[in-house]
Amino acid sequence: MKSDKQNIRHLSLPALQEYFSTIGEKPFRAKQVHEWLWQRHATSFEAMTNLSKQLRSTLEANFTLPALRVDTTQHSTDGTIKSRFRLHDGHLVEGVLIPTENRQTACVSSQVGCSLSCKFCATGYMDRKRNLDFDEIYDEVALLNQQSLEASGKKLSNIVYMGMGEPLLNYKHVLQSIERITAADGLAMSPRRITVSTAGVAKMIRQLGDDKVRFNLALSLHAANDKKRSEIMPINDTNNLKVLIEALNYFYKATQSQITFEYILFQNFNDSLKDADELIHVYRQVPADLINIIEYNPIDNARFQQPDEDAVAKFMDYLGRHRVNARLRRSRGKDIDAACGQLANKG
Ligand code: SF4
Repeated sequence: MKSDKQNIRHLSLPALQEYFSTIGEKPFRAKQVHEWLWQRHATSFEAMTNLSKQLRSTLEANFTLPALRVDTTQHSTDGTIKSRFRLHDGHLVEGVLIPTENRQTACVSSQVGCSLSCKFCATGYMDRKRNLDFDEIYDEVALLNQQSLEASGKKLSNIVYMGMGEPLLNYKHVLQSIERITAADGLAMSPRRITVSTAGVAKMIRQLGDDKVRFNLALSLHAANDKKRSEIMPINDTNNLKVLIEALNYFYKATQSQITFEYILFQNFNDSLKDADELIHVYRQVPADLINIIEYNPIDNARFQQPDEDAVAKFMDYLGRHRVNARLRRSRGKDIDAACGQLANKG
């Protein structure tokens, strides 16, 4: 049966204060509750021990607190930790903590499944079930932050929205989650340490510009001509390269935020020097800082293979000789299906 109680975390601090005044409670109580919800990560009203028992029961009777729970965790030999999170309605999503020497990066999901069906991505073979609410995305980050503190004593340094789902098709909640993550009374992280990755929804890239966001944007390019890109990313049929290049320029002009390209190398598909040339051609038309060249991680249903080392080296060398700022990203967490494109709740 659907509850008609409201999720308490969908109330802003002023709205909570307003509610507390209607029940005859002092405004500082609202602040205490807000702190439990966003900084002390209470998962029940019962846990809010500095409130009277009576107040806790009033909250319990009037609101829900559907916090995310860790369902399973898997540890890779390279230190990567993949977590499967259970949502209040039983759906599952995955998040990954990627520790490196200088960074503790959290990769988070924004949707349960995905509707975009990219051919190389395990999530793309699942249907989109629903969008995550902003508080659920926030919880993923908060739980990965806790894991990071436990594993290394270090807080998260970076967040990437590159897990399951297309963030720009859950626009409102993704932006709200970032607002909470960067808020002083949230996780107080800098937006410059957050990157939202899109398969290329041009209209929403422009919207990010209009909203003057301060976080970074990554475009999953993966092929630099329309024919090949449409073959592996159906969204390219309606958001082709020309339209995306225009949208990225619009975004940059409005925000001056960093843009990166993501380019997965697939053997005999996009790894030739002709492909590199096409990639350079696209790169030159956008104020992109960097191209991340990513090692492909095979998944069960896809037809692609990883190129051999020699082809990768030639590709990188070619980009370098043409003064392209490109970085080869070796995969992390492959042994636990936590690497790029492998998230599919296999647990
Ligand atoms: S790559 Fe991203 S947008 Fe494409 S199917 Fe996977 S999750 Fe969806």
